[in-house]
Amino acid sequence: MTECNLVLIGPPGSGKGTQAVRIAERYGVPGISTGETLRAAGREDTPLGRQAKTIMAAGGLVSDEIMIDLMRERLSRPDAARGFVLDGFPRTVGQAEALDAMVGLRSVLALVLVVPDAELTRRLSARRVCPRCKTLYAIGTHYGSEEEHCSRCGISLIRRDDDNPETIQRRLLAYHTAVGPLVEHYRQRSALATVDGLRSPDAVWSAITHQIEDRVS
Ligand code: AMP
Repeated sequence: MTECNLVLIGPPGSGKGTQAVRIAERYGVPGISTGETLRAAGREDTPLGRQAKTIMAAGGLVSDEIMIDLMRERLSRPDAARGFVLDGFPRTVGQAEALDAMVGLRSVLALVLVVPDAELTRRLSARRVCPRCKTLYAIGTHYGSEEEHCSRCGISLIRRDDDNPETIQRRLLAYHTAVGPLVEHYRQRSALATVDGLRSPDAVWSAITHQIEDRVS
């Protein structure tokens, strides 16, 4: 495979983060999570972090202008020259058009993870994260853990600020409002593949690798 430029589209809780890490490892490309970049900026209390924090806590979207600048800087780094997997960008058609301009003639494949809202609400309510290594856990579910401690770091897991019932509903609404035109953007470019995200993480991973190997040269 010469170049692997992937965009993961999916609602919060669809498993984008988990799959992005696996894709990055398997194909040797940087996995870039805009949500994690914004949360890190929040922890470091930078101007961007402070601005994004309120929007994120309310379940809204950070402006296209900010996100596009952030991604332009990130994709200009040498490690992204041979490909990337984006988790959480683009989220709007404006961001998708900006990404098209950034990559020029390099082709991009958008993988859409489809999961029903009821399942997303269940997963997000059960989601915990290790504050140190950022590993995700699903408390009390078949694929998860009964322990509220990170199995690697041994410290207590925490819940993301925006994984509370009210914000979850707002984030799902923001996703559904934006996703139709975004999916259409990639469909028109014949750069779209859909994956059923309701299955186990391993089954989703297998579907994703098939799509990548079929579609990415
Ligand atoms: P995520 O970790 O992908 O669920 O993102 C968490 C939050 O970060 C979102 O609810 C948004 O507030 C913000 N965010 C992340 N990526 C973007 C983006 N591409 N455009 C706008 N807001 C974003």
